[in-house]
Amino acid sequence: MPRVAYVNGRYLPHASAGVHIEDRGYQFADGVYEVCEVARGFIVDMRGHLDRLDRSLRELKIGWPMSRSALEVVIGEVVRRNRVKNGLVYLQVTRGVAGRDFLFPAGVSPSLVVTAKKVDPSVGAKRAENGIKVITVPENRWDRVDIKTVGLLPNVLAKEAARAAGAQEAWFVDRDGNVTEGGSSNAWIVTKDGVLVTRPADRGILRGITRTTLFNVAGKLGLKVEERAFTVAEAKAAREAFISSATTVATPVVAIDGEPIANGHPGSIVLSLRNAFFDVAEKRQA
Ligand code: PLP
Repeated sequence: MPRVAYVNGRYLPHASAGVHIEDRGYQFADGVYEVCEVARGFIVDMRGHLDRLDRSLRELKIGWPMSRSALEVVIGEVVRRNRVKNGLVYLQVTRGVAGRDFLFPAGVSPSLVVTAKKVDPSVGAKRAENGIKVITVPENRWDRVDIKTVGLLPNVLAKEAARAAGAQEAWFVDRDGNVTEGGSSNAWIVTKDGVLVTRPADRGILRGITRTTLFNVAGKLGLKVEERAFTVAEAKAAREAFISSATTVATPVVAIDGEPIANGHPGSIVLSLRNAFFDVAEKRQA
């Protein structure tokens, strides 16, 4: 069945869908995006993702491309038309199409693209069973990574470096030696006492929606969470380490820069968080 994409008011064949060459997302990375997981036919944590979209748009003074309720309808429709039961839905809003000029254009409507794709859930399950490896790279992004913009070149380069090193994610490390976050995920460790540690969501990281839901999951499981910075050395000596994102939920990290975490196998705490996640997350029938 051919995939369908929503582009500025129309549902189009994915393979031939396009935006104008002077879309500001294309020319200036002047746009924002969201990715929601689709699991067992439900869109996961859509409210949180749309709240964050609203914040990203406000920070960049980009208008909503349509009302929030209309966008929810489009998201559901794209998921249904692509018959996605497990996978993800991607949405991108840019400032719109205008002759190339740095200044904000007047009277231009924001562009909206929504796509969805199927992902075999056994892929994520296998990855969680085996755990992933991460490398560390110097933080080299701008200081507004709290806004989910499509300007992701440092993330692309970091993740490509991870792949070249046989790893699946890169953790950015700031000048003080503290881990900020992953190229496309938040970073966590578990201390010897079983306390979850993740960096505060100030301007150094993106406030992950999965991260926020995991706080609730941890609460349900009686686990303590501490929001504080942690160093690479602390992470390497931790009881467990893991990443979180809409596409990976909570996935164990078994090695950092080639050094195994604990016994080099996925930890039990991250796996219990992963198992309980779906029940705690907000679910919207697609
Ligand atoms: N940090 C970065 C840089 C990301 O790109 C992502 C997700 O893409 C996350 C964190 C995790 O955010 P979420 O849990 O909302 O997917």
